[in-house]
Amino acid sequence: MEVITLQTSVEKIPRIGVTYAKRLKKFGIKTVQDLLFYFPARYDDFSEIVNISQARQKLGETVCVQGEIIEIDTAPSLYGRMAITKATVQDRTGQINVMWFNQPYLEKSLKENDFICLAGKIGLGKEGLFFNSPAYERINEIGENEELTHTGRIVPVYSETRGITSRWLRYIIKPLLYRFCDQIKESLPEEIIKKYKFLPIQEAVWQLHFPESFEHADAAKNRFSFEEIFLIQLNVLKEKIRLMQKKAHACPMDADLMKKFTDSLPFQLTDSQKKCAYAILKDLEKTVPMSRLLEGDVGSGKTVVGTMAALNVVKGKASLPAGRQVAFMAPTEILAKQHFKTVSEVLKNFDVKIGLMTGKDARICSTSDIEQTYEVSKKSLLGDLENGQIDIIIGTHSLIQKGVEFKDLALVILDEQHRFGVEQRDHLIKNKKLVPHLLSMTATPIPRTLALTVYGDLDLSLIDEMPANRKKIKTIIVEPAQRKEAYDFIRKEVAGGKGVFVIFPKIDSAATKAKEALAKVGGVSDIPPTGSFMPQNYKFNSLASLAINEVKALKEEYERLSKEVFPDLRITMLHGKMKAPEKERIMLDFKKGEIDILLSTSVVEVGVDVPRATIMMIEGAERFGLSQLHQFRGRVGRNDMQSYCFLFTTDPSMLNRRRLKALVDSNNGFELAEKDLEIRGPGSLYGTMQSGIPDMAMQGLSNIFLVEKTRAAAKELLEKDPTLKDYPELKERLKEFQTKIHFE
Ligand code: ADP
Ligand code: MG
Repeated sequence: MEVITLQTSVEKIPRIGVTYAKRLKKFGIKTVQDLLFYFPARYDDFSEIVNISQARQKLGETVCVQGEIIEIDTAPSLYGRMAITKATVQDRTGQINVMWFNQPYLEKSLKENDFICLAGKIGLGKEGLFFNSPAYERINEIGENEELTHTGRIVPVYSETRGITSRWLRYIIKPLLYRFCDQIKESLPEEIIKKYKFLPIQEAVWQLHFPESFEHADAAKNRFSFEEIFLIQLNVLKEKIRLMQKKAHACPMDADLMKKFTDSLPFQLTDSQKKCAYAILKDLEKTVPMSRLLEGDVGSGKTVVGTMAALNVVKGKASLPAGRQVAFMAPTEILAKQHFKTVSEVLKNFDVKIGLMTGKDARICSTSDIEQTYEVSKKSLLGDLENGQIDIIIGTHSLIQKGVEFKDLALVILDEQHRFGVEQRDHLIKNKKLVPHLLSMTATPIPRTLALTVYGDLDLSLIDEMPANRKKIKTIIVEPAQRKEAYDFIRKEVAGGKGVFVIFPKIDSAATKAKEALAKVGGVSDIPPTGSFMPQNYKFNSLASLAINEVKALKEEYERLSKEVFPDLRITMLHGKMKAPEKERIMLDFKKGEIDILLSTSVVEVGVDVPRATIMMIEGAERFGLSQLHQFRGRVGRNDMQSYCFLFTTDPSMLNRRRLKALVDSNNGFELAEKDLEIRGPGSLYGTMQSGIPDMAMQGLSNIFLVEKTRAAAKELLEKDPTLKDYPELKERLKEFQTKIHFE
């Protein structure tokens, strides 16, 4: 027989076997150790044990009762649809009835004269006290000495999957804990355990699964929260140390050139933009690779700051010998093309060669001659990139594909890609000696806790003011009865040459489905669409109101808007399922003013710049998070014209009111992110972050004290022992952790 250890595959455990091992794999559980580290999601408090006569005083409460089964029987229900198992249980103070539904196997495992412990809510029926589907566990005797697993204690509840129940997990995990818990090696350094009075790992694992009290469970949780965030910190700081040892091009700041550039702009940079640009230009002077995150609300003008840095790298006087290159990566083709256009435009007169490369497209613009944009073959563009003819290349992910070689890449700028670039930087440098500087730009507010953890290897610059010419966007919650007014207003704006965005939450037709369902049950056949004006005396029946409350689909809305509401205006649809060239053509037409109203799903969310658009109309606004709504709103108000954001709702509940009201009150993305956090919980912020982060770390990530504590501890440890050679267990844990976790 093979000796079983913590590293043994779960499949070898007799009670588990191949079938269950396969199911466990869904949770990433492969070894005995993995199983012991599969922690409960919550607990049921079944710790109060009472006798049956006391139970009478506990109606509606959750308690445990111990007794002897004096009768048990399973029979089909009245209409034969399910099996009902009924039992009578008695102790020396009385009797209680028990019912379970559709668990016929109970009759095999529970027999008359068995002692049993039951846990659940106590009810009182015609036939006296009863338990409805309680948790149960066989015991040897009635009394205090029993070692209980599923009842009579604080009971762990795990997240379950098909074929894996919490009960089964308890049944498997407990004996394994008895046998192996002591063998788990401590992963935290002893001095940290001492300093923070943490439970040792074995004790903590045990208390998390089968806690003596909620205080014990909390203490165990604290330990692991600390540990997981501590691992994130170590990970990030080690990466930072690794990078500090690499070399990058020093690109000294060319003050004259920068002045010439800012003088050439049709506007003044804001103080914030200046400060951020300066920090970036200073970083670029160093031989240590820059890793900087430029954060700024939508419309705060990040592109021009990035462009300034790019210009300094490729044309800075002191940067000679020439030939240094910049790669500028955008998340979508539309945005890459937009950047290509704006960057070419602002760099005219600076004699820069700019390339564009997206999925299929390749273009070159030579800015000494702005009118000239050439379509070129991808091959020739790649050649130019490799021999240094191109100074700045703008594109999508295609920039990091195989076969893309740079002559001398000195700076990578990432627009709205968050973590992406940090991990991809290695791709771009391949085996070159010098590492490019990295500037990542984002409009997503990053709370301090995240800035100090998952983004902890990046330096942060914040553009915290808007260009002075901006008027505050007027945000209005539109009541159903005001819809016509809103439409009239839109018509007026369009007549004045303005553009209108209409955003729709989703593309498939929920309303159509609801209508079909209605037709089937012979309900109202003609439901007024959400947008129409209800006749004053219109009576809702419940099904009809359900259909009306469903957000209508984009296509239906398109039909309605173009045929009924604005038959005289030019309306076009844009959605995620369209091919890129089509989307691009539509965006361009909209920019040029050949489309009045652009109706779309959430594809316009990031970065698109259409200065003539002054109205953002959002249907089903309650369906979006505050931060997302704020991003939509940022699509308008991009110059000095007064802009508007209309929020239409289908579900005016109080909670949504509060959220939408927050949007009306604030034009500040950071404030709104905090509000979102307050109203919807951490999920709203971290939702954009790819998972892989353990639950416990996730909870810990909203705790600034914990974050600061772990950061200090990680710093201290790495200063003492940069390679963690004296902490083999911790090193091992860190390695495991790195393979599990990835950020967007
Ligand atoms: P974002 O930060 O959302 O990426 P952009 O860089 O797209 O914002 O800038 C939005 C618009 O504001 C652009 O049309 C840009 O030319 C303009 N802009 C940038 N900085 C200023 C400024 N300081 N004053 C006026 N307009 C500016
Ligand atoms: Mg942008």
